[in-house]
Amino acid sequence: MISNNNPIPFVDLITPHLKLEEELIAIFRQALESGGFIGGPMVSDFERNFSAFCNTTYCIGVSSGTDALRFALMAVGVKKGDGVITVPNTFIATTEAITQAGASTEFIDIDERTYNMDPEKLREYLETQCDIDDKTGRPIKRKTGQPITVIIPVHLYGQMANMDPILELAGRYNLIVIEDACQAHGAAYHSKLQGRWENAGSVGKAAAFSFYPGKNLGACGEAGAVTTNDGDVAQKIRILRDHGQVKKYFHDLEGYNGRLDAIQAGILDIKLKHLSEWNDNRRRIAHRYNELLEKIDEIIKPFEPKWVKSVYHLYVIRANNRDEVQSHLTKTDIATGLHYPVPLHLQRAYTDLGYKNGDFPITEKVAKEILSLPMYPGLTEGQQKRVVECLKK
Ligand SMILES: *Cc1c(COP(=O)(O)O)cnc(C)c1O
Repeated sequence: MISNNNPIPFVDLITPHLKLEEELIAIFRQALESGGFIGGPMVSDFERNFSAFCNTTYCIGVSSGTDALRFALMAVGVKKGDGVITVPNTFIATTEAITQAGASTEFIDIDERTYNMDPEKLREYLETQCDIDDKTGRPIKRKTGQPITVIIPVHLYGQMANMDPILELAGRYNLIVIEDACQAHGAAYHSKLQGRWENAGSVGKAAAFSFYPGKNLGACGEAGAVTTNDGDVAQKIRILRDHGQVKKYFHDLEGYNGRLDAIQAGILDIKLKHLSEWNDNRRRIAHRYNELLEKIDEIIKPFEPKWVKSVYHLYVIRANNRDEVQSHLTKTDIATGLHYPVPLHLQRAYTDLGYKNGDFPITEKVAKEILSLPMYPGLTEGQQKRVVECLKK
């Protein structure tokens, strides 16, 4: 008999793969028998199916979400010395990509309810800290003289950023929008401007996805993709991921080794068929957490505005005594996470940028209170009740 006190993991990377074991092994066998390890039909089939899932014209498979972000930035023309806007409440890959594309990061604080970029603060930044370049119509950061060229809204925890006002500002200031959709496979946003629901990955000039194993769609290893409707951007990324080659050993530019493995693509294609069902389960589990937590005033639950459909990559609550709560859960074998404990502007890696405590107060406040509860498609009602019972204590 299963004991009531089995540990509750934070994610389950075992059960879904065991359920698909035969199909996944067949992919490996297909690669062994054909010798097709890099590129080929498994990659192009997945690219076609994932672009259909996101409702975009193109999908370019790459080797990670970080590469997807970096290649997207380079493909839209980010140059050395440019400023790229994003939030300090994200995984460091977002800013690694900016720096590695030769640009520097301009942080905008987040909205306290959605934890995503606050469009009002973006407006304030553009209006008060920048002048407009007459030639390009683009903002120039007054303090440094740097041109600002791109905005990267991050769809954190599976919920899309408020894109309408961000796109409106981008239009007014001639800025390019690249979505960091690494946590948002299948999420949607209702655009008032367009009068319809739009999929994550289809809203900006390009979008980056990660298929790191723990993401809503995860490979059995490293993988990522860029989606876009722009044929030129797609073509540049195909060249960037493959050593700058236009054809074998003819290099238009110096690129990267950033391709998507055929085996990973084959695995992703199998798992993609289940993604909508898994996302529905995550939404159901999130709603059940909401109900179970309803009467606990000390806990702030996730806020899902009417204009988004979150795919709950993470279910993140807030509590004043977060550390205490977390250690109590840990003691009862319930695994939790912090996404993220230290805002990027306060990371040691970015000491040189000269930020200090107090620069982005909402991000800093939230970082002390957030707690990610166990969340994966197979989480049972019984397990959720145990998590909440433990939280109440
Ligand atoms: C996971 C993640 C990335 C990076 O993806 P990798 O595949 O690990 O390189 C980038 N941004 C966000 C928000 C992520 O969660």
